[in-house]
Parts: sequence; structure tokens; C-alpha cells
Amino acid sequence: MKVLVPVKRVIDYNVRPRVKPDQTGVDLANVKMAMNPFDEISVEEAVRMKEKGIATEIVIVSIGPAQAQETIRVGLAMGGDRGILVQTDERVEPLAVAKILKAIVEQEKADLVIAGKQAIDDDNNQTGQMLAALLDWPQGTFASAVAKDGDKLKVTREVDGGLQTISLDMPAVVTTDLRLNEPRFASLPNIMKAKKKEIAMKTPADYGVDTAARLSVVKVTEPKKREAGEKVADVDTLIAKLKSVGAI
Ligand code: AMP
Repeated sequence: MKVLVPVKRVIDYNVRPRVKPDQTGVDLANVKMAMNPFDEISVEEAVRMKEKGIATEIVIVSIGPAQAQETIRVGLAMGGDRGILVQTDERVEPLAVAKILKAIVEQEKADLVIAGKQAIDDDNNQTGQMLAALLDWPQGTFASAVAKDGDKLKVTREVDGGLQTISLDMPAVVTTDLRLNEPRFASLPNIMKAKKKEIAMKTPADYGVDTAARLSVVKVTEPKKREAGEKVADVDTLIAKLKSVGAI
């Protein structure tokens, strides 16, 4: 079974994002970038499948700038077999990402796509679902457990108020949630080995996909600053205060 894992290069989750003074977006100059955390979970899941003998090959794909090669290398050091970088300096919206991934899935004859549930930069939570729709494949989103069950895939989903277990026909698209696994750190020997693994360099045009933006960002602003809290003397004062602001 060939597994395709799309990984996005995003602002590192430890970095506090700064909005550009002209409010057109987040300032990425000299900011630490890293693999989207949900995509690390996807790579880990694919590697575990390979270790169990379920997956035979793991292809790591990124759509982004030349530096996204580093992101792919992280996936290769964790256990991916080879990479594909679809190079572009434009901001690519989920539908265009999904169209490119569809073309790669078809070219590679992949049996399973494991994507993250969302990229933490734009918080779209769309790409996996759009890809499943374009391919007309079943999808198991927000996965907190994935298991091969004969020729089907059993996916436990984190839904409001509990867990839902579904059985998917293969091929399929899975998107990963936080509790699926704890991604491994790549060992130094594996980081060295990953340097020799192949990364194919492509462009969106190679897949006939127009990446022109359909959406325009009107404005990006900092979140409102939290106001300082206040200590009250006792429960009665607390209740009176809550009543006075209409909170209870
Ligand atoms: P989104 O729909 O943008 O929140 O992203 C959901 C998932 O789609 C991510 O976790 C990635 O697995 C994949 N994805 C989105 N954008 C890209 C990209 N530019 N390159 C590779 N994978 C991507």
C-alpha cells in the first residue's frame, strides 16, 4: 500500500505571530518555520503503518517555496521514502492544493492519503475534504485511531461529544487529529540518511493547476488584548459581579 503524506511548511507553533504593519498578513521575515504539527502526526502514522508491514512506500509531498524541501527532509528523516516538492512562492489556497494532490495521487497510484486536519497558519481545515471529493474517495477526518481491517480502514473520529468509528473502503483520505499519536524525533543517523533520499522538484504547471488566488485577504489584525482579571473578596461578591454584567 502506497501512502501519500502532504506536509505544509508553516510558522513554528512556538513562535508568537506578528501582524505586518499594513495588516496584509503575518510577518514571516526571519521567523522560525516548521512542519505543520498535524502533518508530523500524519508522517508518524504512515511510518507506523510501514513498520507494521501495512504500508510499502511513503511519499512526502509539499507545495510551497524552495525552503519547503527542509520540511520534506524532516518527514524523510522520520521514515518517509521519498519526496515531491511542488515549488511556488505564491500563497496556494486549499482547492488548488487539493487539485495538485489529486494529480499526484493519480500519477503515483497512491492507496491512502494521510493529511493533517488543518494547517495552523490559515486554519482552513479544507484540503483533505476537498481532495476526497475531487478523487471521489471516502474520507475519515479528525482521526484519533486508524487501523487496517481486512481490505477496509477503521477510523475513529473525534466528533463533538465523543468518538465515532467508521469503516472506509480503500483507497481513502484520512485527516489526523492531535490524539492519534506522538510523533517521533528523527535520530541523527536518520537525519543523515534522509539527505540522500530523493526529492523530485515540480511546479503547479506540471500538474496543469492554476494556483491564482480566488480569495483576497481584506485585513489581518492582532487578537484583542485580554483585559486584566480582578480578585474579589468572596463568592457573594463574585455572584453579584457576574449578575451585574449579565453573565448569569
Ligand atoms: P488546510 O486545509 O489548509 O487547513 O490544511 C489541511 C492539510 O492539508 C494540512 O495539514 C496538510 O496535510 C495539507 N496541506 C495544506 N496545504 C498544503 C501545502 N501547501 N502543501 C502540502 N500539504 C498541504
